[in-house]
Amino acid sequence: MKKQNRFGRIHSVTVACVLCMGLGSTSWAESTWLRCGEVLDVAQGELVGAHTIAIDDGRITSVWSGYPAPEADQSINEVDLKDMTCLPGLMDMHTHLSSEYSPRSQVNRFTLNEADVALLGAKHARVTLAAGFTTVRDLGDSFNATVALRNAINQGQIPGPRIYTAAKSIATTGGHADPTNSWRADLMGQPGPREGVINGVAQAREAVRQRYKDGADAIKITATGGVLSVARSGQNPQFTDDELDAIIAIANDYGMHVAAHAHGGEGMRRAVEAGVHSIEHGTFMDDEIMALMVDRGTWYVPTILAGDFVAEKAQIDGYFPPMVAAKAAAIGPLIQETFGRAYQAGVKIAFGTDCGVSPHGTNAEEFALMVEAGMPPAEAIRSATMSAAELLGVEEELGQIKPGFIADVIAVEGNPLADVTRLESVSFVMRDGEVFHAPHNH
Ligand SMILES: [Zn+2]
Repeated sequence: MKKQNRFGRIHSVTVACVLCMGLGSTSWAESTWLRCGEVLDVAQGELVGAHTIAIDDGRITSVWSGYPAPEADQSINEVDLKDMTCLPGLMDMHTHLSSEYSPRSQVNRFTLNEADVALLGAKHARVTLAAGFTTVRDLGDSFNATVALRNAINQGQIPGPRIYTAAKSIATTGGHADPTNSWRADLMGQPGPREGVINGVAQAREAVRQRYKDGADAIKITATGGVLSVARSGQNPQFTDDELDAIIAIANDYGMHVAAHAHGGEGMRRAVEAGVHSIEHGTFMDDEIMALMVDRGTWYVPTILAGDFVAEKAQIDGYFPPMVAAKAAAIGPLIQETFGRAYQAGVKIAFGTDCGVSPHGTNAEEFALMVEAGMPPAEAIRSATMSAAELLGVEEELGQIKPGFIADVIAVEGNPLADVTRLESVSFVMRDGEVFHAPHNH
């Protein structure tokens, strides 16, 4: 029996579209076959022609050239993507799903309850998945909202990407991720390791262990000042060597890597030398630090989109508090140029946007900014698939369309190698073998 449903030419059975139908825990009794017009082989960086991708129990079981017919007695769910290019689900290594910056952000910190933040996170998770991002690393939330979000998504309660989260970032007093910066003195209180504010080695250890207890997958530190905190410097070093060493040693004990937000050179150099896994933003990265990162194998997650976004908004009077506007105008425009030099220097690059600074769902706009700075589209796409999977240590099951891999597959119209902005409008999204978003009838 063949029938068409409202999502397009999907035959034989009803394919649940979670975004359209609300909660969805689709159980596949049968194989799903994706009929792709083209497949982008991200390892080779080229289109390899028409293929059929077979999926069982959330895994890719076979990838055949062309469109073979099923056996006579075989019942399959067939998804027609013959006028599309299929590629692996995209992976963003720097998001903040529990928030989205606006001129109201300062006020929100005094008006939003934990439940409000959690529900915003659910909304942002859904738009991120719809944009073709099937995996994210979340680098800083409030109330551990992204831990609950990750768990709810894993249990099939709400749609969203697979999440690796650092939960609440770790800062030092007055540092970039001190949640009480600029507050009135009697409201500031004394945030400590539980809230992600540390001073000294003992508190550094406690904060990492607290995150392990809270259910974090990784650790995020703000190694230097940053743009959006209401604090004077956007680039001063904010951890001492012994604090960095303590954080990394404990994180390693618990099987977590450390991601370091860093704009200024001194804090960045200390973080790389201490052994962080990735540098985020990297604005004032000089040749010496680049060489050090190549030597140490440190990842660079550029977030050009966030730099672009804050530089643009800094032009709007009153959008940011004055102290933030000055930093946004100075730091924002520099990241793209740094990225171009880091790419030339051979630093390992993994795709990341800092979405939550720019609106969630705009993640793929980062690709055009990378290409504009000199990275070929094939490499930009690899940074958001194979390289991101390698950063997370899951390169044996995510980031490629291969038998045995987890079935995270998206499809776009046209050739993203010729026009990388094709990735900004994704027509089909599958995560873990479940269809979340399918093409509508033309
Ligand atoms: Zn960030």
